[in-house]
Amino acid sequence: MRQIIRGGFGPALITMPYSPQPACKIRTCPNRAEKWGYCKDHYKEIEEHRLTAAERGYDNRWNKARKLFLNEHPICVMCEKEGRPNPATIVDHIQPHKGNYELFWDQTNWQSLCDYHHRAKTMKESFGKNNER
Ligand SMILES: [Zn+2]
Ligand SMILES: [Zn+2]
Repeated sequence: MRQIIRGGFGPALITMPYSPQPACKIRTCPNRAEKWGYCKDHYKEIEEHRLTAAERGYDNRWNKARKLFLNEHPICVMCEKEGRPNPATIVDHIQPHKGNYELFWDQTNWQSLCDYHHRAKTMKESFGKNNER
């Protein structure tokens, strides 16, 4: 018996024909680690937590930035062009960011829009998909 068993009893460890993988980082878990030091089940759990946490952080930052921007640019740019200044409620990306981080946070790519104009723009974008790659 030269096997060193860490973190509980793992029959899988002993029967493994090739280099044994470490056990799951959750100490009470008998499974082998598959990803990031966690077994499949625990990895999935951690991945889910990680994602929601990241998303929450992102939302906070965006909410704050958006409020500041609306404070500085309180009028819908499209309404203003039409000569009827209306209060803006939405910060829109002039060029759709499509998940591009830099484009997303680039304030020169932001504009204040009212509900109506934001909806009108989104409609146009989702119908006019020909010119994007
Ligand atoms: Zn586990
Ligand atoms: Zn407007």
